[in-house]
Amino acid sequence: MQFTDRLLLENRAWAAGIRAADPEIFSRLHQGQAPGALWIGCCDSRVPAEQICNASPGELFIHRNIANLVDENDANVMSVLEYALKALEVEHIIVCGHRGCGGIQAAISGDEALAALPRVESHVGQLRQLVAVHADELNRFTQLGDKVDHVVELNVTAQVERLAELSLVRESWAARRAPTLHGWVYDLASGQLDDVVSRGPADADAIPEANGWRRAAS
Ligand SMILES: [Zn+2]
Repeated sequence: MQFTDRLLLENRAWAAGIRAADPEIFSRLHQGQAPGALWIGCCDSRVPAEQICNASPGELFIHRNIANLVDENDANVMSVLEYALKALEVEHIIVCGHRGCGGIQAAISGDEALAALPRVESHVGQLRQLVAVHADELNRFTQLGDKVDHVVELNVTAQVERLAELSLVRESWAARRAPTLHGWVYDLASGQLDDVVSRGPADADAIPEANGWRRAAS
């Protein structure tokens, strides 16, 4: 059987199983969605958002890109963010990175790793800056894997800070005291999530103007 045929067959089995456990679920979901969180995760096939959190359909609004990046110039992530905040009014945004991230490793390893992947190189460009800023502390690591995992943590923190500076988030904080921003890291080896950083509307005034959020709002 082809892989894709198996997926279609498994879908029927999945739908039947879900319906058996909760006969009204699909008619309820058909009415609309009210997810509790926007999830910004990596594309990596080993980090399936709903499965690792035991979340049901309708609970997570999901955007995934290589290395879970937030970039103001990326219409994809920004449109998802706009919809999540203005239409769905999510209470939480979770940026979820994962140890052993190939996107992070490529950004650390330099030009050669990305020579044949110009679009990926362009996408992970902001990670090069992150690595450069933290060069001294990263030099302490002798193993590439340890360095990658440290940058994974630095990256989710950086993405949460980026979100905290966006006018979309600032306006939502002012209007309805939400969302709370969370940076999590998933460990491929254990299947467990770690909570790395969080920011909420109470932190809004603590972030210096020099960080640029006022510029972003104008
Ligand atoms: Zn990844």
